[in-house]
Amino acid sequence: MSIEKNKIIFVNKALVKLYGIPPRPEIPPDPVDMLIGTILSQNTNDRNSYKAFLKLKEKYKSWEEVAVQPLAKIESNINIAGLGKQKSIAIKNFLVSILKTYRKISLEHLRSKTNDQILHELTSYRGVGIKTAMCVLLFSLRRNVCPVDTHVHRTTNRIGIVFTKTPDKTSIILNKDMPKRIAHQFHTNLIRLGREICKSAVPNCSICPLLKICEFPDKNLSGIKSYKTNNFMLLDSIY
Ligand code: SF4
Repeated sequence: MSIEKNKIIFVNKALVKLYGIPPRPEIPPDPVDMLIGTILSQNTNDRNSYKAFLKLKEKYKSWEEVAVQPLAKIESNINIAGLGKQKSIAIKNFLVSILKTYRKISLEHLRSKTNDQILHELTSYRGVGIKTAMCVLLFSLRRNVCPVDTHVHRTTNRIGIVFTKTPDKTSIILNKDMPKRIAHQFHTNLIRLGREICKSAVPNCSICPLLKICEFPDKNLSGIKSYKTNNFMLLDSIY
């Protein structure tokens, strides 16, 4: 068993003890909804990206209707999620491309493909990166992969599971040999750890369950003994 795999199993157990097994919706979200929700979630908090997602869903009857809107209209509807221009271009480009290729807006054909084939197809759309494609794999298609966002990248590097400079490199190493059936809980609980305890500016190491094994050299042991819960997960709330 690889060193990374051993560490993932250990860290996952500690986080499940702290946070439990995160709930998942009974019916997985539609892959197109998931892809658009993930684009909206880039560089913003989950509550604002969720509001932008709901606004698009409430305003338009279908993604086909969104696809024919002028960019400025899409942008004005999603502004609350930030980076409206960039995100509206990515969303429109994806919707128009998929409509052109498949004559409908659906990603159902992905279900019979391998993870690599799916990653290859989704990242071929301009504005869709590895993290977004991995979110479709994990949340909609229920594959055992761990998408790497800023929290997962930071915490896994601090703990010493990986030693990388970019989220995409972290993603490759973490997913080379992901232990079976734990990717969703590992991903979700690491995000909570990153939001609540292992914060970007100053980690609160004194209350961290990983203190004994963590390899981060600049631990902060003078933090308060509590933290604010932040367990709203956009990608488990999309329907
Ligand atoms: S011990 Fe500190 S740096 Fe290490 S994972 Fe915990 S909070 Fe982060």
